[in-house]
Amino acid sequence: MEDVGVGSWLAHGGQDDGGAAVVPGIPMSTTWRRGEDNALIDPDQLYLRDQSPLVRRVEDVVARLEGAAAACLFGSGMAAVAAVVRSVPAGGTLLLQDGSYWGTTAFVRDHCAHAGVTLVEVDTTDADAAAAAVDVHRPDLVLVEVPSNPLLGITDVAALAGVTHAHAGVLAVDATAATPLGMRPLALGADLSVHSATKELNGHSDVLAGVVSTTDTAAAAWVRVVGERARGGAVIGQVEAWLLLRGLRTLHLRHERAVANAAAVAEWLLAHPEVHRVLHPSLPEHPGAEVHARQASDAGALLSFRVRGGQQAALRVLSRLRLVARATSLGGTESLAEHRASVQDGVPDDLLRLSVGVEDLADLLADLEHALHP
Ligand code: PLP
Repeated sequence: MEDVGVGSWLAHGGQDDGGAAVVPGIPMSTTWRRGEDNALIDPDQLYLRDQSPLVRRVEDVVARLEGAAAACLFGSGMAAVAAVVRSVPAGGTLLLQDGSYWGTTAFVRDHCAHAGVTLVEVDTTDADAAAAAVDVHRPDLVLVEVPSNPLLGITDVAALAGVTHAHAGVLAVDATAATPLGMRPLALGADLSVHSATKELNGHSDVLAGVVSTTDTAAAAWVRVVGERARGGAVIGQVEAWLLLRGLRTLHLRHERAVANAAAVAEWLLAHPEVHRVLHPSLPEHPGAEVHARQASDAGALLSFRVRGGQQAALRVLSRLRLVARATSLGGTESLAEHRASVQDGVPDDLLRLSVGVEDLADLLADLEHALHP
């Protein structure tokens, strides 16, 4: 199976486990027996928290997608982010991309203040500013999001990896909005790749999950990440792991359709008189378009756009949507729209975030046309 393409392999849910069942079962036993000699009957199975055969299988799928040596699943994207953030020792320094997902920003600010970690927030989409900040602060960990949510900022991963490694730091990239099919941070030089698997990896808005991957399982940061899961206990449930594997079987199909829809929607919005700005790296005028084209294989299915007339106009457009659901999150089969300034600071109040799904394009455009009609 290793020699087939990613799509064929995803369609089979990864490497089969050698059993007769086409679909793996859901292991529900939390513990495994020892024999009369007190040795484990199955040497790989002691206790479920960190030893689920199903979780291992899902991790193998993600590791192959990422080009990684190993992946570690968590119970949510935030649990994955938190495990990475907690790898910084007390007295250390963490450099966070200014304008990261608000949940990450809130967690990192709180954690650093509490744990005695110096926090530096920098606009890493400005490569010179990012390099200068890394040179001055010599962070233990640099954490960025590519593309960022919801402003679609594009950080040059290879350039940032170079300067971070020059000071022996660790670079972690949250590539949730890109997916491993769109961008592989580890191949660009990042040490850790992070995803909220709640989003496009699962793709059906029905599972919370997170994952961290690495190419170096001996690296100190990786050892802390897996230790955090094993001892801290931020594990994924077995049913959720099973659903995630089912979602992954169609990732390549969903991704292709959603990305094509998003590029077409972005171009359509750009030409609309009621829209004054569209943020999507498929558009040549996007400030990160060139870097993105170099480091990613597509522009992803997340975009934001700004409506003429300010907050009231944006909320009116949102209220008139009939097909696109008014809800937070991204990466599902269904398109979702959200007025981000209603839930976080630092975002223009005329901005709507749109997670583009796999609907028929004509229906999406008709819905947006109806909603944007003055
Ligand atoms: N990272 C990014 C870029 C996100 O957009 C999110 C959630 O929206 C998370 C992490 C957190 O993931 P979860 O909601 O699975 O905890």
